Amino acid sequence: MIVRPRRLRRTSAIRDMVRETTLSVKDFITPLFVKHGKGVKDPISSMPGQYQFSVDTIVKEAGELWSLGIPAVILFGLPDEKDDTGSRSWADDGIVQRAVAAIKESLPEMVVMTDVCLCEYTDHGHCGVIINGVVDNDATLELLARQALSHVRAGADFVAPSDMMDGRVAAIRTALDQEGYQDIGILSYAVKYASAFYGPFRDAADSAPQFGDRTGYQMDPANLLEALKEAELDMEEGADMIMVKPAMPYLDVISRVREVSLLPLAAYNVSGEYAMVKAAAERGWIDGERVMMEMLISIKRAGADLILTYFAKEAARGLMIDD
Ligand SMILES: [Zn+2]
Repeated sequence: MIVRPRRLRRTSAIRDMVRETTLSVKDFITPLFVKHGKGVKDPISSMPGQYQFSVDTIVKEAGELWSLGIPAVILFGLPDEKDDTGSRSWADDGIVQRAVAAIKESLPEMVVMTDVCLCEYTDHGHCGVIINGVVDNDATLELLARQALSHVRAGADFVAPSDMMDGRVAAIRTALDQEGYQDIGILSYAVKYASAFYGPFRDAADSAPQFGDRTGYQMDPANLLEALKEAELDMEEGADMIMVKPAMPYLDVISRVREVSLLPLAAYNVSGEYAMVKAAAERGWIDGERVMMEMLISIKRAGADLILTYFAKEAARGLMIDD
């Protein structure tokens, strides 16, 4: 007798019934870039369909995302000036702080997350302060905590530290608790690799390091056990959700972290993953829409509960058509 798994693939209705993984708009967190100015919506050339917004236009964009059912955004800021400590990152009138306040005012229910890091705000482009030519871990912690606190004062629901300094989740948790923000959460970039897939983002956020690279604090792409250790440390330090970044080249990591984590797990489908699909689709080499959906479902299947993705809006529209 032949065993016939094909019986379960015979019709579309049967396939729908036995599908093991589903995508929902509720899985998506949309990354958005905010800069100074008015009425700004500047296209990012290496990420077709993505823009740098000003505060007024980002509110409009967030409104569109919300109306599509997407529950959350994560904000990245492009400051008006940079210095060696990234001091514009914790200014109460900083660009992210203003965007958070404006989005929350217009869409109080939307979950507004903020990326917490120094690289977009430092003139050297590193994620921490430089002391004696290296990124100093412990001196950076205080600045990250200050930045996180200012985002939360502006109304952020979650802060998301992406710097990969040791001990930063605990430092931020302590700072928030001391100021009475014990109910505001931390989504930690627990497992973040030193990846070439971030290339287009560095154009978008103007955050490329001016000397050296980030291998002294971000993880070696060859390591998996280290990912489990990083995830465990951030859970112990008080993270409410953890993240693996990038997503597609690290599906095995997502799957292993899923096994050891009792927290919601997010994965960041990064700029390079997005740009590759867009570029190949533009040339007619792949069906961009189908590849997008396949990529997103694979991230979910690997074990992610939430996906930070530039495809959020497009995928949300696709999901509406499917229903
Ligand atoms: Zn950074």
